[in-house]
Amino acid sequence: MTPVFRFAPSPNGLLHLGHAYSALLNFDMARAAGGRFLLRIEDIDTARCMPALEARMLEDLRWLGLEWEEPVRRQSEHFDDYRRALDALADAGLAYRSAMSRGDIRRFVEAREAEGAIWPHDPDGAPLFPGRDHEDGPDARSAWRLDVAAALDHLRNTADLGWMEQGAGPDGETGWQAADPSAWGDFVLARRDTPTSYHLSVVIDDAQQGITHVVRGRDLFAATSAHVLLQELLGLLRPAYHHHDLVMDEDGGRKLSKSRGDTALAALRSAGATPADIRRMVGLPRDG
Ligand code: GLU
Repeated sequence: MTPVFRFAPSPNGLLHLGHAYSALLNFDMARAAGGRFLLRIEDIDTARCMPALEARMLEDLRWLGLEWEEPVRRQSEHFDDYRRALDALADAGLAYRSAMSRGDIRRFVEAREAEGAIWPHDPDGAPLFPGRDHEDGPDARSAWRLDVAAALDHLRNTADLGWMEQGAGPDGETGWQAADPSAWGDFVLARRDTPTSYHLSVVIDDAQQGITHVVRGRDLFAATSAHVLLQELLGLLRPAYHHHDLVMDEDGGRKLSKSRGDTALAALRSAGATPADIRRMVGLPRDG
């Protein structure tokens, strides 16, 4: 089986050194394995993702020396695929509508914490959704959430729910990982303003594109628990996962973000950096 790798940026800002590392690592690994390298544009957030940013992103990636197969998959062209998957989950009684926004949840939880409650937070630090029992009555503009308890019940045997980690998690986790989807609470499958979510679209895309190796930043390690649960529910093949370290900023303490311009590839390039310089800066060998 030919290995298939992908780099999946969101065109909501400029690519920085962290993206360059992830893209080049995927490309190098695909080449070393005699595999294919695909690019996917993760633009479900149509308010923040811009065609002009996408064009600059592709231009930066070409400049780095990357070559990918055409056509490039764009998530915004596949909303129907995500909708079908959502319908299947809803038909099975595993998804429900929910009207609470992130702000509503925060206020609800703050009120409980003020009364002394210790509220659980997800791996990204957001307070867990309190559960459908606390909703006043979802309206027509609601989001969709996965009923995680019902989903785990539906699967019956969850002993082998997990993934093979070929890289490492934040605490050095490697090899077989048991998934812990409950850590995310009843996570969002489709947002109020978008008929899908990151978790739902990423598993559908990886399956439809035949991805065998997901190589991405360690900040998405915990999200893999949500991904394997969805793969199991939707009957999708599971790729191997390789979470890589994050490129930190100058002070060494923070991961790079799109809002900080100084490590943008475009800025480094206009300051005279070459693609070989970028490879050196992120610690990759010159020729991959
Ligand atoms: N689009 C995500 C990002 O830019 C990457 C998703 C993934 O690799 O699974 O962080």
